[in-house]
Amino acid sequence: MGLCAQVVHSDPPIKFDVIIDDDKCIDCGACISLCPTDALHFNSDDRLEFSYEKCIGCLLCLDSCPRYAIEEM
Ligand code: SF4
Ligand code: SF4
Repeated sequence: MGLCAQVVHSDPPIKFDVIIDDDKCIDCGACISLCPTDALHFNSDDRLEFSYEKCIGCLLCLDSCPRYAIEEM
């Protein structure tokens, strides 16, 4: 009896822009810690920045924010 190979196709991750509400953000860094791809980081002015190219759309950052400062667009 031959081996049966099953190929599983998965959809590519959904890409979206992450919008950070500066009025709500307290720069706690929780979203940075949880982001698996380093798509979020503090810039030289200590402001949170988002890199669209690195984001895989996992949504972890939205759930991590204690201030609900992150939205997807
Ligand atoms: S959606 Fe995921 S990959 Fe994209 S910025 Fe948030 S935590 Fe990082
Ligand atoms: S988790 Fe929310 S409050 Fe903390 S740095 Fe990220 S956006 Fe700002």
